[in-house]
Amino acid sequence: MTERRSAFVLGGGVAGLTAAFGLADRGFRVTLLESRPTCGGRAYSTYDRVFAREVDNGFHVMLGCYRAMRSLCRRLGSEDGFQQAPRLQMGYRFGDGASTSLALSRLPVPLAMPPALLRLRIGAGARLRALFGMASVTLGAPSGWTFAEWLRRRWQRGEPADLLWRPLCLAVMNCEPEEADARMFLATLREAFFGGAASAALWVPEKTWGELIGAPAAPALMAAGVEVRTSARVASFEVRDGHVAAIHLAGKGQISTNGEDVVVSAMPWFALQRTLGDRAPAAIGRLQSAPIVTVYFDVAVGVPPPDEGPVTALVGGCPFHFLLRTPGESASRFALLSGGDRTLDGMSVAEVTASARDHVERYYPGVDLQQAVIRVRREQHATFVPDPATAGDRPSPGRLSGGPTNLFVCGDWTATGFPATLEGAARSSEQMLAAIS
Ligand SMILES: Cc1cc2nc3c(=O)[nH]c(=O)nc-3n(C[C@H](O)[C@H](O)[C@H](O)COP(=O)(O)OP(=O)(O)OC[C@H]3O[C@@H](n4cnc5c(N)ncnc54)[C@H](O)[C@@H]3O)c2cc1C
Repeated sequence: MTERRSAFVLGGGVAGLTAAFGLADRGFRVTLLESRPTCGGRAYSTYDRVFAREVDNGFHVMLGCYRAMRSLCRRLGSEDGFQQAPRLQMGYRFGDGASTSLALSRLPVPLAMPPALLRLRIGAGARLRALFGMASVTLGAPSGWTFAEWLRRRWQRGEPADLLWRPLCLAVMNCEPEEADARMFLATLREAFFGGAASAALWVPEKTWGELIGAPAAPALMAAGVEVRTSARVASFEVRDGHVAAIHLAGKGQISTNGEDVVVSAMPWFALQRTLGDRAPAAIGRLQSAPIVTVYFDVAVGVPPPDEGPVTALVGGCPFHFLLRTPGESASRFALLSGGDRTLDGMSVAEVTASARDHVERYYPGVDLQQAVIRVRREQHATFVPDPATAGDRPSPGRLSGGPTNLFVCGDWTATGFPATLEGAARSSEQMLAAIS
C-alpha cells in the first residue's frame, strides 16, 4: 500500500477550509493549524455582554454568483442560513430622508436592468448613461485604470456614479472608486450581472458567522478525515534544501515536514510576511490594509422605517455607507457599515458611536436614537486595498514563486482576479489545488 502524502494547511479561514476539504478529497492526510480557538478567519462572531448575544465582527453579504463560497457553505451544512433572494433588490436613502430602490425582475440581469432603472428615481439622461455604463461593463477596462477613471471615461459621473456604482464599489472592493482597480471590479460585476437573475441577488446571513462557519467547521473537517489543531499559531518555517523542513509553532514545538509534503499557507498576507521573514516576496509588503467598521444598534423606540430589502445604500454617505438588517430579526436591530473609510481611524468608540447615530438620524429624519444601545466592531485589516498599483504584484494562488518548493499559497489576497471577498478566498483555494500534483 502506498503511504498517503501529508498536507499542512496553515489558517482556518474560508481559503484554509476550502483547501483542507479539497486536499482531503484528493487523498492527502491533512492537518489544519489555526491560531485562534475556532475556524472562520475574518468572518467570525464573539459574545457581546451588553447585547447578551453573539455578534459578528462585521456584516458580511454574499452575491448569488459566489459559487465557490456557496459550495463551502454546503459542505458545512450552512447554505440555508442565508436569505437567498431570487433577484437583486437594494434600497437607497438620501441625506434628506428621501428613498428609492433598485428592484430587478426575475429575468436575466441584462433584460431586467433597463425597466428597473426606469423605476429608479434619477433623471432621464442619467438613466440612459447608466444603461450605457451597464453595457460597458462587458468590455472591462485597460490595466492601470482606477474605477474613478472608468466612471469618467464612460460618462457615469453624477447620478449613475452616486447611486449605482459607488455603493457597489464600496460593497465589493471595500474602497472608493478613486482607489479601486477598474479591471478587477468589472470582472466581479460581469459574474454578477451577466448571468441569471439569481447571480446578482444578495445573500444576507440569517445567522451569525459563528453559526455559519465557526461551529460547523471542525466537525465537518474531522468527518472528512482532517486533523484540526486550533490555538496553534505558526511562528516561522525552517527551510532546508529549498523546501519547508519544519513548521515552528509559537510555544508548541514544531512539525517536521519533508520535500514531498505539501505546506499550504492560507494565512492573510501580513501573517505570511511575518512567517517568511526575509524570504517574503516584496510584493506582499506593498499590500495595504483597508478597515471595516460595523456599528450595531438595538433600539427600544425610534426604529428607522423599513427600506426595500435588508441592504440600504446611504447615498453619498461618509463615513457610513450602508444600513443593514438581518432577515428575520426584530426591526429594532440594525447595523451601520463603513467600508474602507479612513476617517474613523483614531476616533474613540464614543466618537464612532456619536457619528453613527448622527448618520442614521440624518438619513432617517424623525428617528431619535438617544436611547439606543450601540456597539462598535472595528476590523483594521478587513481587506487589502485592491488598487491598480498592486494588482499585478499579487502572487498567484499555487506554488509561491521563488519560495520553498513545497510551499503553496492561497487566500483572498492572492491574484485570483477578484478583490478581497469570501468568494475570492474560496476560489483562491480552488486555483491553488489545481496547481498541486
Ligand atoms: C468586517 C468584515 C466585513 C466583510 N464583509 C464582506 C462581505 O460583505 N462580503 C465578502 O465577500 N467579504 C467580506 N469581507 C472579506 C472576507 O471576510 C475575507 O475576504 C475572507 O474572509 C478572507 O478569507 P481568507 O481565508 O483568505 O483569510 P482569513 O479569513 O483572514 O483566514 C486566515 C486564517 O489564518 C489564521 N492565521 C493567521 N495567522 C496565523 C498563524 N500565524 N498561524 C496559524 N493561523 C493563522 C487566522 O486566524 C485566520 O483564521 C469582510 C471582512 C471583514 C473583516
